[in-house]
Amino acid sequence: MASRCLEPTLERASRATMARLQLRRLREQVAHAARSSPFYRRKLRAVGVRPDRVRTLDDLRRLPFTTKDELKENQAEHPPWGDVLAVPFADVLRVHLTSATTGRPLAFLDTAADWHGFYHSYARSLYAYGVRSSDMVMAAFSYGPWIGYWSGFYAAQDLGCLVYPVGGLSTEQRLDALLAYPITVLGCTPSYALFLAEAAAKKGIDLAKDTKLRITWHTGEPGASIPATRAKIEAAFGARAYDLPGLTEIAAWGFECDARAGLTHVHEDYAYPEVLDEQDRPVKPGERGELVFTSLYRKAMPLLRYRTRDIVQLADRRCPCGRTLVAFEGGVLARVDDMKKVRGIIVYPRRIEELVRPHRDVDEFQIVFRRVDGLDDILLRIDPSPALASTERTGLRETLAKDLQLGLGIRVSVEVGEPGSLPRWDHKARRVKDERTEVPF
Ligand SMILES: [Zn+2]
Repeated sequence: MASRCLEPTLERASRATMARLQLRRLREQVAHAARSSPFYRRKLRAVGVRPDRVRTLDDLRRLPFTTKDELKENQAEHPPWGDVLAVPFADVLRVHLTSATTGRPLAFLDTAADWHGFYHSYARSLYAYGVRSSDMVMAAFSYGPWIGYWSGFYAAQDLGCLVYPVGGLSTEQRLDALLAYPITVLGCTPSYALFLAEAAAKKGIDLAKDTKLRITWHTGEPGASIPATRAKIEAAFGARAYDLPGLTEIAAWGFECDARAGLTHVHEDYAYPEVLDEQDRPVKPGERGELVFTSLYRKAMPLLRYRTRDIVQLADRRCPCGRTLVAFEGGVLARVDDMKKVRGIIVYPRRIEELVRPHRDVDEFQIVFRRVDGLDDILLRIDPSPALASTERTGLRETLAKDLQLGLGIRVSVEVGEPGSLPRWDHKARRVKDERTEVPF
């Protein structure tokens, strides 16, 4: 498995070596933030921590958290970049925006070295999936301010791959390119992978047979870490599919391990991870908590203890690949912001996807949280495969209702509509609607 490590000395470093490297970088980052970022100078002063007092990795716990809301407020008060910026404006090279569903997105700046760090950590993930310089890569994301497109493109180029820029091309043109060129690797959101597969099927193209694809990677949403969703993508493309978790504010921070033991590794020399319980104490191996990252490489916006709002489970086993990097079970398991309460029960849309995707006759779905006669209700709308006979729809509805009741512990209303009746997603999906005007708990 060593051949799957782009940087074996880091990926298989002893814990002591990694901790030494992390501590050196952490102290540099804290000193830099305190010296050059007015935002962090105020925050550190407010809790009375002097940067030179951070002498061990545990001392990190004395530093305050940073939240996305805080960064957004800071940019609103000091437009357009906020005074978190810790380098002269002449030193910044790139700007990217987070994909905000509400309000103005967060603008994130990078120096040349920061940008290299971002895409190089991404390249390490691609290398772990098996991507090599002999590959031809299509990064099928839209050309725009989203960091996922640019970093995927640069990462493939960093590995010496031939990269085909398809940012501005239509799905039709991308399908044509997949047939015409020896493209072996495809990167896109999991929703777009399914969209592309459906578009190909409509044209009578069998992506598994008619293309040279051997690896696909998926980012922007956690879909590819859901086994049934990944299986659907792998069957459609005839390739190995991998989940790549990332955050604009931190890094392409990890990769689903190629050893296929269900673990996701963290590039912990780039971003120091903490997994914290509800009282902000570190969880034990095997337990779940919120992922908090401290950037160990970015100088323009050096985030300390950034609350990601992502729930992960710290692995309590060694990965068979031989890497020593920290690992999580199954990637990002849930987003705190996606959590819904229905009749006192906590429901994550990801869990619903886990239960719906194994049904082969489901092409697309939508989850609606609503109130019926004053009571909370979940409605699952199904867009069935055209291959499903209309006489079989009742059977599908009943099977799904039973699986969801068992899996969630709550009754779900299921509606099976006409094929093609629900929206498709060419970037990140918005399959969840919450129609309740008030949250009852
Ligand atoms: Zn591994």
